Amino acid sequence: MSAEEYFHQGERVAVLTAQPLDRLLDYRAPEGGCFRGAFVEVPLGPRKVLGVIWGSGSGDFDSAKLRSVIRVLDVAPMRDEMRAFLGKAADYTLTPMHAMLRLATRAPGLSDPPSMRKILRLGEGEPDRMTDARAKVLAVMEEFGGLAFTPKELADMAGVTASVVKGLVKQGALREEETPRDLPYPRLDPELPGKELTQDQSAAAAALAVGVQSGGYGTTLLKGVTGSGKTEVYLEAVASCLRKGRQALVLLPEIALTAEFLKRVEQRFGATPAEWHSGVTMTERRRVWRMVGQGNAQLVIGARSALFLPFRDLGLIIVDEEHDTSYKQEDGVLYNARDMSVLRAALCSAQVVLASATPSLETWANAEAGKYKRLDLTARFGTAVLPEMKALDMRAEEMLPSTWISPSLKFAMKKRLEAGEQSLLFLNRRGFAPVTICRACGAQVACDHCDARMVEHRFLKRLMCHQCGETKPVPEACPSCQVEGKMAPVGPGIERLGEEAAALFPEARIAVLSSDLFGSARALKTRIEEIAAGEADIILGTQLVAKGHNFPLLTLVGVIDADLGLQGSDLRAGERTFQLMRQVAGRAGRAERPGEALLQTFQPEHPVIRAILSGDEEEFWRAEAEQRREAGVPPYGRMAGIILSGSDLAQVFDLGNALAQNDGPLRQIGAQLFGPAPAPIARVRGRHRVRLLVKAAKGAPLQEALARWVAPFKLRGDLRLNIDIDPQNFF
Ligand code: ADP
Ligand code: ZN
Repeated sequence: MSAEEYFHQGERVAVLTAQPLDRLLDYRAPEGGCFRGAFVEVPLGPRKVLGVIWGSGSGDFDSAKLRSVIRVLDVAPMRDEMRAFLGKAADYTLTPMHAMLRLATRAPGLSDPPSMRKILRLGEGEPDRMTDARAKVLAVMEEFGGLAFTPKELADMAGVTASVVKGLVKQGALREEETPRDLPYPRLDPELPGKELTQDQSAAAAALAVGVQSGGYGTTLLKGVTGSGKTEVYLEAVASCLRKGRQALVLLPEIALTAEFLKRVEQRFGATPAEWHSGVTMTERRRVWRMVGQGNAQLVIGARSALFLPFRDLGLIIVDEEHDTSYKQEDGVLYNARDMSVLRAALCSAQVVLASATPSLETWANAEAGKYKRLDLTARFGTAVLPEMKALDMRAEEMLPSTWISPSLKFAMKKRLEAGEQSLLFLNRRGFAPVTICRACGAQVACDHCDARMVEHRFLKRLMCHQCGETKPVPEACPSCQVEGKMAPVGPGIERLGEEAAALFPEARIAVLSSDLFGSARALKTRIEEIAAGEADIILGTQLVAKGHNFPLLTLVGVIDADLGLQGSDLRAGERTFQLMRQVAGRAGRAERPGEALLQTFQPEHPVIRAILSGDEEEFWRAEAEQRREAGVPPYGRMAGIILSGSDLAQVFDLGNALAQNDGPLRQIGAQLFGPAPAPIARVRGRHRVRLLVKAAKGAPLQEALARWVAPFKLRGDLRLNIDIDPQNFF
């Protein structure tokens, strides 16, 4: 580092902290001095907080009162490129820097000194008597096999008090061990032989390797039908990156982070990579964070927030299933991990690979415009062929009341059952029934805090609000008219469909896959693995089954309501339906047996349904792109959503109106403002929500204008204003 980035003891330095303050804080450099970028601990009032040395102090704070940095932490300093990334991401998303720093330091105990720690392993001894609490602790140890936990982690995971764990140690059922904190990850070996690639695959892998070898920035769309070997291909790009001595990051939608995937990586490189997602223990998080910074983790497999890890030399980012909506963070810092990957890569001279069978229109258009390279894998690997897709015209099917499986679909399922193959029914609706209505007065049960109907979950034996998660028992008597025994479910949810399937095929083994039905992500993964191994004949699933699981015995997919996603005013409704249907259909016939996908629809002539059936994707995208271009909406124009919320509706609207009346900065850049209007979900958790929408031309300096526009407005009371750049959802 150059000399001017070093601060001598006592010199004035500016420190960025993760505390909600809109400025840097001045301190004196600590004993021994410090470099710019150093992570430090500083006093703030009575507390000690984490911070980063950002530069020299501004000098407007009374130097007599200036306090000293307490100490420099023993972690890799923040690199200039990370600092630039956080700054640009903050500008783009209009997020304050303290929130960006928080995102970049999401690991506990970074200020703890590196030292030994006490961990527990299963011991030889037997407890004198087995209590429920003790059994829970031992069950956790059994479940996680070779892993070791600190006493506190173990107690938390088992849901017992610390004394239960202590008791087991005393009895020898658990034994204590000292290990160093934060071990480096085992080396991955890119020279181990990969699978032999087909011609298509090796051409794509070679093209990606050229990019990685260049050591510069570039983004490539890797487009290929499900099962065409995109993963095999990008693992070769990872191998090239590791050979070059740089680090790689593979981002996956959270639900696709399966043991199956990690096993594939381990097979390719001979060791397991670092993992970063919500299921990773706190201790492990800190280890990942530190080792990534020191260059002792070559590869991270993670969910979207892994993008903010302090990589020492990041050379490659893979965004798998790049169209997946879960890459957009919908609370806190509103960022899209796909777009931020491209930004980060541009700043650290890395390559990005966006992999998908059904790319987002944004990415498709960037490839069309030549901003991204594009590689296509057209054939499925081996003998597997894409399923044959057909519409079932529901206007012609004879349906009994309150049933949703048509005779044609039932017939197809029966054939699969007889052949010992699996069928999957897809319905993107959690719970038993979307509506619970009183047959006496017609009232529906609504959430007390949200502008949303309560959804019956028979498995939980309760009604649930899908906005805030509030639950209540299904009432015996109608809350409106007090008549008893008239509350009735209306419409299908995945649980109700399960009952229908069981009634049609009493001899079949039926598995319902919905996030509500599993206590933990791990339990769900286990169930998915069992099903893949053949432990079910009929699978019913919500959208979580659309994502990347491999069911070799599956040969039939039935889409219960292909029209579901086509309703609503969302500009991406058509695109989303197209992607989802293609993904779901891609579940069938992944191994040797050919598959079939049947779409139940009331509008088989709808352009989106026709495009799905015809398989002419380019045609679909061209048409969709043309519509968006005409409307001047993304990716051919820019949008920002403004969400105002507060407990007092009048106050929220007053703020919305004041914003609308003072939109000078927006007009200066030729932007249009719509609203204020009640948000489609007008109340969540007791807070009223009002939206405004800003539309601007593609090249307009939108963020700068938005910042100038909202700056004069002071938010009184519990009013909140959130800006969502490139909104994905309009709820
Ligand atoms: P995608 O990521 O496009 O869905 P995958 O990379 O997961 O496709 O490949 C689908 C299946 O085919 C996987 O089980 C994978 O191991 C296998 N496969 C793909 N390409 C090859 C190959 N060249 N040799 C052996 N197996 C392959
Ligand atoms: Zn609610």
